[in-house]
Amino acid sequence: MLTQADLRPAPAPLTSADPPALLGRDSAAAYRGLIADVAGRLAERFATVDKPWTGPAPTAIAPAVAAVDLDRPLTSFEDAFDEIGELYLKDAVWFHHPRYLAHLNCPVALPAVAAETVLAAVNTSVDTWDQSAGATLIEQHLIEWTAARVGLGPDADGVFTSGGTQSNLHALLLARDEAVEQVLLKHRVEAGTPLRGVEVLPRLRFFASPHSHFSVVKAARLLGLGEDAVITVPADDWFRMNPAALDAAIETSREQGLVPAAVVATAGTTDFGSVDPLGPIAEITAAHRVWFHVDAAYGCGLLVSPRHRGLLDGVEQADSVTVDYHKSFFQPVSSSALLVRDRSSLRHVTHHADYLNPAEAAFPNQVDKSLQTTRRFDALKLWMTLRTLGPDALGAMFDRVCALADQTWDWIAADSRFEVAAPPSQLSTVLFRLAGADDATHRLAREALAASGEGMVAATRVEGRIALKLTLLNPDTGLADIVPVLEALARHGKTAQEAAGMTTVPAPSAAPRRRDHRGPAREGRAA
Ligand SMILES: *Cc1c(COP(=O)(O)O)cnc(C)c1O
Repeated sequence: MLTQADLRPAPAPLTSADPPALLGRDSAAAYRGLIADVAGRLAERFATVDKPWTGPAPTAIAPAVAAVDLDRPLTSFEDAFDEIGELYLKDAVWFHHPRYLAHLNCPVALPAVAAETVLAAVNTSVDTWDQSAGATLIEQHLIEWTAARVGLGPDADGVFTSGGTQSNLHALLLARDEAVEQVLLKHRVEAGTPLRGVEVLPRLRFFASPHSHFSVVKAARLLGLGEDAVITVPADDWFRMNPAALDAAIETSREQGLVPAAVVATAGTTDFGSVDPLGPIAEITAAHRVWFHVDAAYGCGLLVSPRHRGLLDGVEQADSVTVDYHKSFFQPVSSSALLVRDRSSLRHVTHHADYLNPAEAAFPNQVDKSLQTTRRFDALKLWMTLRTLGPDALGAMFDRVCALADQTWDWIAADSRFEVAAPPSQLSTVLFRLAGADDATHRLAREALAASGEGMVAATRVEGRIALKLTLLNPDTGLADIVPVLEALARHGKTAQEAAGMTTVPAPSAAPRRRDHRGPAREGRAA
C-alpha cells in the first residue's frame, strides 16, 4: 500500500546557515539591505546613462544569455545583479533619456516606482476581498475618479487591466455579448424558436478607422468573429474617423443582415495622435443603438490636461473607455483600465467559483469583473502618484510634450533636408521624411541612428511610404535634445544615399506647408 511518504517524499530540512529566501518577519534586515543595495546600484546607473540605447544586434547578446546555466545559481545577489548588469542593463532601452523619441513609452513618476516595490513586497492580489481588502477599495476609488473625469455618470464601473490590448478585448467582449443577447431576444420574440449565440457570431461587425490600434482586429479574432468582422471606416485628411462614412457603413451592414456590435473610436491614434470626433460618433452610435467604445490608451492624459481636455468632448457618452496610465499618466508598465458606463454590462465576464467568489459572497470581489484572476495591485502606483504629484502636474507634463511636438513640427517643416509626412498632431507625435529619400534610405538612417546611440526614433508607413516617427512623452525633453537627433538622421541618410550611388537627390515631393494644415485637427486644442 502507498504511504504518504511514497506520494511525496519529505524535503531536506533548511539549515540555519541558509540565507533567508523569502520576505517575512525574519528577513527584515536582509530585505532592507537588498532594496537599499538595488536602489544604490540603479541610481548609479541612471546617473551615468548617456544614451538611450547601445543598439546591439540580438546576436551580440544572445550567446551570453544562453550560456547562463540556470541550474547553477551564483553565490550572492550582488553577483546576480552584476550578471544582469551585463546581460540586460548595459544595453537596456532607456525611456527617460531625452533623446529616446520612438514609441509610446514614458519616463516613470517617482512615487509610482516606489509604490511598485510596495505592491511586489506585500504581493496583494486584487481578485477577491479576502486577498486584498483596502487594495480593492483603493483600486475602486481610482476607477470612480477616472470615470468621473470621463463623465460616465452614476452607474459607471471598471477594473484595472494589464494594458490597452486587454482593455480593448474586454470592452469588445462586453459589446459582443450585449449584441448577441439582443439578437437572441429579438429572435425568440419574432420567430418563437431558440437560436444559439454561436450562430450569431459570424454576423457581428465592429467599426473602426484605418488608424485604430491592431488590438481591435486581434480582439475580433479572439472573440470568434474573424478578421473580416472589423469594418474599416474611412478617415479624413487629419486621420480622424469620418462620421458620415460611419453612419453609411452601419446602414449598409444592417441592410446586408449583419449586426453592428461596436464602434471603436480612437482618442489618440498610435501613429498620428489624432482624436476621432467623439461627439458626432456618439450621436451615430446612439441613433443606431450600437455599443460605443473609445480607445483612449494614448489620449487618456487629456483627462488631466489643463489645456486640451476639450479634445475628448463626447467621451462622456461612451459605453466603454480604454485608458493606459502607462502611456500618458507616466506610470510604469503595467497600468491600464477599462471603464464602462453601466456596471451591469460587466456581468458578461463574471464567473462564480466555489473556492474563490461564490455567488452568495457579501464582499466586493474585483475578479467578478475582470478577465484575469490573480491580478497585480497596479492601482497603488497611480494612487501614490496622484496623492503626491496630483493630477494637474501630470496633465501639465502631457501638455508640455504636446507643445514640444508643435515646436518640432515647425522646425522640421522649415528645414529643406526634411519634409513633414503628416499635419501637426493633436497629441505628441511627429511624422516626417528625409527629403527625396526612398524607403531603404530611411530604414538605414534609422538603424544607423539607433546603433550610434545618438537617439531613437520610430518608423511607420504613411500613404504606403515609410515615414519616421517621433512619439514625445518625456516632459524633460526639449527641442535642443531633438535637433541633434534630426541632424544625425540627415547625416546618416546622406551617407546611405551616397553608398547606394544616389548622386542626384530627387527634388523633395511637395511638403505640406504648415498653414495648409492649421485645419480642423487643431479644434479643441486651445491656443
Ligand atoms: C498602445 C495602444 C494600445 C495597446 O495598449 P497596450 O497597453 O500596449 O496593450 C491600444 N490602443 C492604442 C490607441 C494604443 O496606442
